[in-house]
Amino acid sequence: MIRYPKRDDLRAMAGYHSPQVSVQVRLNTNESPVEPPAEFVQALAAAVSDVRWNRYPDRAARELRTAIGALHGVSPDNVFVANGSNEVLQSVLLAYGGAGRTVATFEPTYQLHSHIARITGATVVSGRRNADFTLDANEVQRVLDAHAPSVTFLCSPNNPTGMAEDPSVIASTIKNAPGIVVVDEAYAQFSPHTALDYVNDESRVAVSRTFSKTWSMAAARLGYVIGPKWMVEDLEIVTLPYHLDALKQIAGCLAVQYHDHMQRGVQEVVSERERLLSAMRAMPLTVWPSQANFILFKPTTVTAKGSTAVGVAGRRIWQALLDGGVLVRDCSSWEGLADCLRVTVGTRGENDAFLAVLRTALTARD
Ligand SMILES: *Cc1c(COP(=O)(O)O)cnc(C)c1O
Repeated sequence: MIRYPKRDDLRAMAGYHSPQVSVQVRLNTNESPVEPPAEFVQALAAAVSDVRWNRYPDRAARELRTAIGALHGVSPDNVFVANGSNEVLQSVLLAYGGAGRTVATFEPTYQLHSHIARITGATVVSGRRNADFTLDANEVQRVLDAHAPSVTFLCSPNNPTGMAEDPSVIASTIKNAPGIVVVDEAYAQFSPHTALDYVNDESRVAVSRTFSKTWSMAAARLGYVIGPKWMVEDLEIVTLPYHLDALKQIAGCLAVQYHDHMQRGVQEVVSERERLLSAMRAMPLTVWPSQANFILFKPTTVTAKGSTAVGVAGRRIWQALLDGGVLVRDCSSWEGLADCLRVTVGTRGENDAFLAVLRTALTARD
């Protein structure tokens, strides 16, 4: 009788985890496939010796917020930084969600939006995307009218499906939502457009970004939101004191200086993505278009006698890839994504390995 019961509303929940398997080729969590530049690593190592370890770090992270603000042409007062954009989202939900309030998502989308909303006590209401995973303005309006959500999430490009949200849907959602609109732009560097232009001190729009995906900095756990000044002030209320350690603040300031390097990395990923897309389209797969650094796909359903049941084919290919040393994301059990897998665009060598193992897995049908 040691175990004490957790909150009632957490009972039916599981944690959110992507398996960390030791495997040759890891293409399951959408990080950058390349390391940051050597000069960055050297500069960071040198800066570590200057940290005053006995003292708390700058609580307001002023230098880092100034550097990020400069990147986007906004004041540091419009920048809130946290330990990964997941913590940013959690802070937004702590400030504007919570018990008695409603949070809207449009599924399938990034699972952490609804997960963190529930953990912070809000009621989640979910609209549906179209069959091709685009988002219909009427569906958004239906959810806004029916539930008047305090927080509405858009994700552009949308994870795990890959395409940026339609700009007109982003515009109408922002215009009509009664509460906060969060546009999660974790993959914005790959996208043809951004919602940043909608952010100003009279708006209720927050655009979240992360250093985990394009910046080759997933290990640092650093993310931020660009939002109105009043929102940044509200977010500070729900933030733990000194939540951003000194080392992370230094790493972030330094990383911003390598913005060009990051942009070049994005170009390389895009050309590898296009190569992967055309190779995968020649295979017995349904492959969705992508404006991000990952691709959603599923094996084409076998209709002949002895056909593989829905939801099983995807899982089987996932296992065959893993057996061949390639780890991708198994989305096959997620609602609306039966049989679907998601592969992160890796280095040329990693992508070749993925294509070779995938080809074999698809021919070795039972
Ligand atoms: C990866 C991801 C994040 C989280 O990034 P962190 O900064 O590593 O916490 C947020 N949103 C989306 C859509 C993502 O895919």
